Amino acid sequence: MTGMTQQVTNWARNITYTAEEYHRPRSLDALRSLVAANARIRVLGSGHSFNGIADPGPDGVLLSIADLPRLLDVDTAARTVRVSGGVRYAELARAVHAHGLALPNMASLPHISVAGSVATGTHGSGIGNGSLAAPVREVELVTADGSTVPVARGDARFDGAVTSLGALGVVTALTLDLEPAYRVEQHVFTELPLAGLDFETVAASAYSVSLFTDWRQPGFRQVWLKRRTDQAPPRFPWAAPATEAMHPVPGMPAVNCTQQFGVPGPWHERLPHFKAEFTPSSGDELQSEYLLPRTAALDALHAVDAIRETVASVLQTCEVRTVAADPQWLSPAHGRDSVALHFTWVDDMAAVLPVVRRLEQALDPFAPRPHWGKVFTAPAAVLRGRYPRLDDFLALAKSLDPTGKFTNAFVRESLGV
Ligand SMILES: Cc1cc2nc3c(=O)[nH]c(=O)nc-3n(C[C@H](O)[C@H](O)[C@H](O)COP(=O)(O)OP(=O)(O)OC[C@H]3O[C@@H](n4cnc5c(N)ncnc54)[C@H](O)[C@@H]3O)c2cc1C
Repeated sequence: MTGMTQQVTNWARNITYTAEEYHRPRSLDALRSLVAANARIRVLGSGHSFNGIADPGPDGVLLSIADLPRLLDVDTAARTVRVSGGVRYAELARAVHAHGLALPNMASLPHISVAGSVATGTHGSGIGNGSLAAPVREVELVTADGSTVPVARGDARFDGAVTSLGALGVVTALTLDLEPAYRVEQHVFTELPLAGLDFETVAASAYSVSLFTDWRQPGFRQVWLKRRTDQAPPRFPWAAPATEAMHPVPGMPAVNCTQQFGVPGPWHERLPHFKAEFTPSSGDELQSEYLLPRTAALDALHAVDAIRETVASVLQTCEVRTVAADPQWLSPAHGRDSVALHFTWVDDMAAVLPVVRRLEQALDPFAPRPHWGKVFTAPAAVLRGRYPRLDDFLALAKSLDPTGKFTNAFVRESLGV
């Protein structure tokens, strides 16, 4: 047990958690007792979110489950893995790969915890790839009274229980579907014009496709294709192959990034952009991201292009990815195949916030859903209209947590509880 004697911050250091106490229980029993005994609790994963989503508030308790006995059981016959919620994808991926198995996709970085990632709808790219929540088949929750509640696929509550913003209880373990291990090669191209862009064809040109731009000029500075070697070779006649290794943030060292130039490698060493043992992205930054229907991708990109100079003034890089629709009630990709417009901003909230507001105005016609773990300003009144199953989620939260022990200011302000 640790009091709040030292300041606990998120990875980006723009949030200092205001909780009264910080605990890192070492056993499930200790965790259960803490949950039963306290009135206001939030769990901190690896702290890679950019807003107050994990903060329980000044009268609450912040919990890390990273010190619980680690669970990482791969079932090769069933092709599943049961993993502690606090385990990070880098460790999970290595263990799964050692058994000849794989996850379908990864985010840009492997440093993030499994429970924290699926709680916010974290995703990679690929028109056929759902978010990281897609392979989850069961979550095990320690709920408000300290009891364990498993919620598996097929349970009527399941579609509310994975991308849950941490509002249902402590996710101590998850079971994920796996597939046979595969190899991926990464190809980087430069200078793809926006004029005449056939977004659908470009987005479908490899297993995972990312477009990057600084919006200082129209079009995209880089295109990253991640091709599974068991699928057709990429054909990319619209831009020139890169002649040197690239980092998505201009000026940052490419050594931080996963191998490029089409060198095949294990799936978990190519699907993330950033290597596990290096700082991901730039390190001094804020991030925002909006998911909107993929059919509107081109119009949305032109809407951003129309305010290009405003966006570029505080931007490090913008990444455009795709995410397949999923049924999770609070998933930003709920019910719609999506394009995800991501923005890595400079590390200056006062300068960034007006641009975020302007960007949200520009994207408003496309009913964007913000990434739950990043900076956004849209209030509950707007977000409610974008999540058709929100009331089902609120009813589920009420049934598992009648006093709102796992509700915080972020959840109240975003969901209108
Ligand atoms: C450099 C960088 C790159 C990123 N790249 C991507 C990307 O490629 N794609 C993308 O979609 N996002 C990306 N993100 C955002 C990031 O993936 C999300 O913010 C994600 O939620 C972080 O996971 P975490 O474990 O750090 O969660 P935290 O930020 O620690 O927590 C997120 C939420 O999960 C809850 N939570 C955590 N653990 C538990 C648990 N055990 N039980 C219950 N609730 C829990 C918290 O209470 C909180 O509500 C990036 C972030 C950074 C810093």
